[in-house]
This record gives sequence, C-alpha cells and structure tokens, in this order.
Amino acid sequence: MDIKDCIFCQLPKERIIAENEHCLAFHDLYPVTDKHTLIIPKAHRTDYFELTPEELDSVNDLIKQQKEKILLEDKNVTGFNIGANCGEDAGQTVFHCHIHLIPRRKGDMENPKGGVRHVIPDKGHY
Ligand code: 5GP
Ligand code: ZN
Repeated sequence: MDIKDCIFCQLPKERIIAENEHCLAFHDLYPVTDKHTLIIPKAHRTDYFELTPEELDSVNDLIKQQKEKILLEDKNVTGFNIGANCGEDAGQTVFHCHIHLIPRRKGDMENPKGGVRHVIPDKGHY
C-alpha cells in the first residue's frame, strides 16, 4: 500500500494524545468503550509482526503509560483488553499496525468472561 493512502500515516496532529520515540497514541474514532486508545508505530508497518524490537519496546511503554493515564482519569475503569488484529481474516481493517487498548468497567457487558476470546462470537465462553 502507498503510504499516502494510509489514514494512520496521515493522522491529523491534533488527534495525537501521546508519543514516544517510535510510537503514537490517539483515541479510536469509533470507540468500543470510552477512552478506547490506539497505539501505532510512527513508521508504516502492516501489522504487529512487522514491528522491530525497538518499536515493540516503544509500543509497550506507550500502552503502559496510557493505561496509567486512563486509570487516573476514570476511576470506573477496572480492567483492559489489549489486542491487535493481524490480517484481513483476523478482522484487520486498517493496514497500519495498531494495538487496541480498550478500558473496561464493571458491568459494561453482562458476562465479560472470556474477554478477547469473543473475537469469534459464541466461542468466548468455555
Ligand atoms: P482494525 O479493525 O483494523 O483492528 O481497527 C481499525 C480501528 O481504527 C477501528 O477500531 C476504527 O474505529 C479505527 N479507525 C478507523 N478510522 C479511523 C480514523 O480515521 N481515526 C481514528 N482515530 N480511528 C480510526
Ligand atoms: Zn501507514
């Protein structure tokens, strides 16, 4: 893909809420929950598996920094889901690597057991 066609390479500066050496953080435009945050490498990488060791360190640092910020901002947050869709068949729609950091609050769904297992409906519970 041409980088000029990539929405995350063209992200408007005002959407960026944090950055470090190799990564940016910004709010998801269509949040699953309030404060749903995306962490991306500054360089165009198609998915998680393309990240260099240095980018992986930056991703982890920014995930942890944003997690702490969310916990300070919203005392109702009691958990998180962290996830990356890698490949169209795994549900990826934007082909610039991004890690979803999704804050969770007690009672935000009836039975949260299984968490990310719910990527395939009806397979979440076991
Ligand atoms: P995927 O399905 O590829 O894992 O996730 C793409 C994510 O990007 C979705 O959660 C979607 O809401 C988000 N998204 C799509 N377009 C934009 C955009 O223009 N700006 C922002 N901030 N998020 C976007
Ligand atoms: Zn890109």
